[in-house]
Amino acid sequence: MIYEAAFLSDDVLIRADVLLRKGADWEMVEVKSSTSQKPEHIADATIQTYVIRACGVNLNSIKIGHINKEFLYTNTDNYDGLLSEVDITAAVNERIPEVKDWIKELKVIAAKGANSPMVVMGEHCNEPHVCPYQSRCEALLPQFDGVPINLLPRVGNKLAEEWQKKAIFDLRQLPESALKTPMQKMIHLAHTLNQPVINSDLPAKISSYGWPRFFMDFETVQQGVPMLLNTKPYDAIPFQWSVHQWVSPSDKPDLNAGKGFLEFLSPTMDRDFLVSLLSAVGTEGPIFVHNASFEISKLTNLVERPSCHDLKLPVESLISRIVDTLLVVRNDGYYSPKMNGSFSLKDIVKAIPTSVDYSSNDLLSGGGDAQIVWFKCTDPNTPIDEKAELARRLKNYCAADTFAMYDLIVYLENPIDAKSFDIN
Ligand code: SF4
Repeated sequence: MIYEAAFLSDDVLIRADVLLRKGADWEMVEVKSSTSQKPEHIADATIQTYVIRACGVNLNSIKIGHINKEFLYTNTDNYDGLLSEVDITAAVNERIPEVKDWIKELKVIAAKGANSPMVVMGEHCNEPHVCPYQSRCEALLPQFDGVPINLLPRVGNKLAEEWQKKAIFDLRQLPESALKTPMQKMIHLAHTLNQPVINSDLPAKISSYGWPRFFMDFETVQQGVPMLLNTKPYDAIPFQWSVHQWVSPSDKPDLNAGKGFLEFLSPTMDRDFLVSLLSAVGTEGPIFVHNASFEISKLTNLVERPSCHDLKLPVESLISRIVDTLLVVRNDGYYSPKMNGSFSLKDIVKAIPTSVDYSSNDLLSGGGDAQIVWFKCTDPNTPIDEKAELARRLKNYCAADTFAMYDLIVYLENPIDAKSFDIN
């Protein structure tokens, strides 16, 4: 068995993930992190096969190994059954005659000093993979200094395409009839006025929430190869929470006085996460969470685990207190042109007074970064002082999100710079 076997032919270098000797023949297994065999894997394995065969190797069995998403990791270091193999030999053999032309075509592009091919951006920039050159290609597009129609959530691209045919490119030029939902009308109004807008009922609704108030956020990690017992590939495992508490209207929470939980690989992490969280949020008062379906699904999954079954009732009670600030903003009605069509917490915060600075180098840039930190902190090769520094940044990052929600609720109750409108 040879891992990462390298071959070179016709200036094309490939590395086969696994080559297995089968008597006088060979079998290749290309290992993919996806949970099924995808159409694009065939072209990939076809190029590999072409080069390996050109080097005189009798390769006659070609397989894709992908992650079996039903695999449950129950015994330490036992990964039997993690990979599922799909035989793609016939599909590869069918496409082998095409490879010569692919190489000929690509050599022109890869030649030293060759011009970039002129390709218009489109669906191929995201499918089957997100192209990492998007910002470079976007910079080459003609600059438009209006308000693009495609910033409308969900329907933007379709509407933009439809109205481009009528030479309308600016959201503000769309007729009322083109805007179907209250949210679309709200976004249109704010950009037309070039001012934040707030539904006239929203400040009173915010005032009516009880006390104490809590602000909560989770970070999770997904592993293709599970490292925590009793988890499956790509389960989103919560390993961190942050909570800020606002005791009463006269109280002013402190960014640095929030509570938090952070663990990486502890075998009792699931239960410790819930027990400490239940203690931090007590039993009364609304718990504000942005895009709460994520946190709710993680809580629901955790109490399904045998180690946490007995916490089901208190966790259900916690869930019943959650108020989703995403729905509050999007459906109950607040929007600022600074949000640029997005209702993510980080974009809302750009429009309101806040002490949270997401642009600070000290904070992570998003949940993806938090996952990378998890992997670094569980890597035995990461020095201890680097781990401590990464853990500190993780805590600050999660606390920033919960404090930003506090700033948001304060602002929505007294939105001094926003124009009042009626969402209905
Ligand atoms: S973003 Fe990537 S895929 Fe899209 S046109 Fe540019 S280089 Fe091609």
